[in-house]
Amino acid sequence: LTLLGLESSCDDTAAALVRRDAAGAGTVLSSVVQGQASLHAAFGGVVPEIAARAHAERLDHCVEQALDEAGLRLAGVDGIAVTSGPGLIGGVLSGVMCARGLAAATGLPLIGVNHLAGHALTPRLTDALAFPYMMLLVSGGHCQILIVHGPERFERLGGTIDDAPGEAFDKAARLLGLGQPGGPAIEAAARSGDPGRYPLPRPLLDRPGCDMSFSGLKTAILRARDRIVAAEGGLPRQAQADLAASFQAAVRDVLVEKTRRAMDVYLDLRPAAPALAVAGGVAANGAIREGLRALCDETVRFAAPPLALCTDNAAMIAFAGAERMAAGAPAGTDLTARPRWPLDAGAARMLGSGK
Ligand code: ATP
Ligand code: FE
Repeated sequence: LTLLGLESSCDDTAAALVRRDAAGAGTVLSSVVQGQASLHAAFGGVVPEIAARAHAERLDHCVEQALDEAGLRLAGVDGIAVTSGPGLIGGVLSGVMCARGLAAATGLPLIGVNHLAGHALTPRLTDALAFPYMMLLVSGGHCQILIVHGPERFERLGGTIDDAPGEAFDKAARLLGLGQPGGPAIEAAARSGDPGRYPLPRPLLDRPGCDMSFSGLKTAILRARDRIVAAEGGLPRQAQADLAASFQAAVRDVLVEKTRRAMDVYLDLRPAAPALAVAGGVAANGAIREGLRALCDETVRFAAPPLALCTDNAAMIAFAGAERMAAGAPAGTDLTARPRWPLDAGAARMLGSGK
């Protein structure tokens, strides 16, 4: 199966072509990603209206470029997969409308893909993991620990109850006067810092379960910074590095310990080929990655897809579409956007949480 994938749920416009063979192995034929950071920089966050307009303007061109780079035409494609949620409604709609237009013009089947499912299935594209595997998805907008049972079955063991870790990195960097995106800036500053000089809390580690919280860390950074500034008349470079190191260590400890707990639940299932996969921009962090890798051993495989496929992209959407098609998911020519779309909707209903 060769699928065209479209992604426009946040601030990246992306198109890709991916092939999936009968054995389930995937190949990325092309992957085009156009970021919008410069469009939103002046506003301190993604502006939904600006994002939606940019997606609508750029999608056609991204599709053409992806087809060119793959040396393909739409006639050589077996289906069109598009992120149909969750995300910013305007952006999701831009992608869905573009995909519907292409499907109407070509008669190709159309498959709506959950953006989070795209992230969660990426390790099957890059590392051919077998179901069920564990997935820690940590990005600027998401934080979930999942057991991935199949292309349409995700079991959520825990997640953040407030900020996503990437968001926390970005806010902490701002408080410390470091640049954006905050993750790489903090990681760089932390290299010359002492994580023990200003100990920060490890939120929710004293509570059972796999839920996490990161907004308190931000407040703790703010207090520590203000104390230092009051005493020193500014934030010395070394204190900045020490706070960055403390922050990174706190986030790492929370993520690693909660993942360790989730792993116990997962290993109780006696998976045939146990594996832990990470995805999302925060998985780029060396300290966090090494902490998670240390949870694995000869019996549990560690999979960290290349960063370009860990952050938002359309190859993951095309591959997830191919996985669903191969599993016999219905594909039509019609599709609606679902701005809110939890991955394990079925489980949430069963538990009566209504979310
Ligand atoms: P979404 O949440 O919709 O998947 P996003 O654009 O918010 O998309 P990503 O692109 O996956 O998220 O990741 C961006 C986030 O990852 C930013 O918050 C950034 O600070 C963080 N990040 C990137 N590199 C690092 C790093 N080395 N250490 C920690 N965090 C990082
Ligand atoms: Fe994403």
